[in-house]
Amino acid sequence: MEVRAVGSLDDALEVLSRYGDGCQVLAGGTDVMIQLARGEIAPAVLLHVEKLAELRTVDANGATRIGALATHRDLARGRLGDGFRAVAEAAATVGGLQTQMVGTIGGNVCNASPAADTLPALLVHDARLTLRSSATSRTVPLDEFILGRRSTGRGPDELLTAITLAPPGERTGDVYLKVGRRSAMEVAIVGLAMRLSFDPDGTVNDARIALASVGPRPLRSAGAETALLGGRLEPESIEAAAEAVLGEVNPLDDLRGSADYRRRVIPGLLRRATEMCAQRAGTGSPDGEG
Ligand SMILES: Cc1cc2nc3c(=O)[nH]c(=O)nc-3n(C[C@H](O)[C@H](O)[C@H](O)COP(=O)(O)OP(=O)(O)OC[C@H]3O[C@@H](n4cnc5c(N)ncnc54)[C@H](O)[C@@H]3O)c2cc1C
Repeated sequence: MEVRAVGSLDDALEVLSRYGDGCQVLAGGTDVMIQLARGEIAPAVLLHVEKLAELRTVDANGATRIGALATHRDLARGRLGDGFRAVAEAAATVGGLQTQMVGTIGGNVCNASPAADTLPALLVHDARLTLRSSATSRTVPLDEFILGRRSTGRGPDELLTAITLAPPGERTGDVYLKVGRRSAMEVAIVGLAMRLSFDPDGTVNDARIALASVGPRPLRSAGAETALLGGRLEPESIEAAAEAVLGEVNPLDDLRGSADYRRRVIPGLLRRATEMCAQRAGTGSPDGEG
């Protein structure tokens, strides 16, 4: 196996166009090195992109643009501002400090784990991905990019360069909540991101809810979003949203938790997330008492 460390984006794209499927991108390496050690991947070329400083910038003016090589630590430190707290919170729960210092958001996206923490948070912000090859540049919604467990729509000659998030409107709150065996060091048993926007009278005018570790890929729950939309947050609508989520997810039993346990924690997570979104949006508690 040949290791190619590149110093410019053009050089990286040139290597990708030459080797295609035989080339594995290496960013922070927190997934790749484990997959190599386990023999799950055996690329002819390992393309080390860590030195591409231009892909590590976070631009929070106007439409927020996160370079694919921004580390979880970069994002956890609040560089995205108050509008994207779910993304910062998700990044802050990825493994321990060492993993966050080197693991990148682009690696989390392209690895496409069903349990990836940043994916639900990016999904509720309608993240769009910029993919570059030596010949083209295209933008694709994250929701379309993730096809299944560790499967994406990335072409063999493409590099993810940036992730763009639209600015949230007024009276919007977002949050990421994670259930794990040891909260800050463990892959999610269930992860839930929510973003709610409110009219001045507390009516929900935009609802986005996404979950990780509940099926082959992180997903938005359209049914739960519909249950919350168009009314104030009341116990009945929150319960209806929880019911809808449970009808849409398909969790598995695994070493970290049973499918039954995952289903049991979802309603509580959803309730807490609605409360936090309402508070962060400045509209008080869901039942109107705050
Ligand atoms: C101890 C430990 C704990 C962990 N805990 C968590 C956790 O709690 N939550 C969680 O979500 N993850 C966790 N992970 C997984 C991992 O840290 C994350 O997925 C991380 O974000 C991967 O980023 P990376 O830069 O290390 O990616 P790499 O390992 O370098 O790459 C991952 C994949 O993405 C591809 N890739 C990377 N960058 C690009 C790019 N710019 N364009 C195209 N393809 C690219 C690679 O080819 C590879 O397929 C953990 C890992 C470890 C080792």
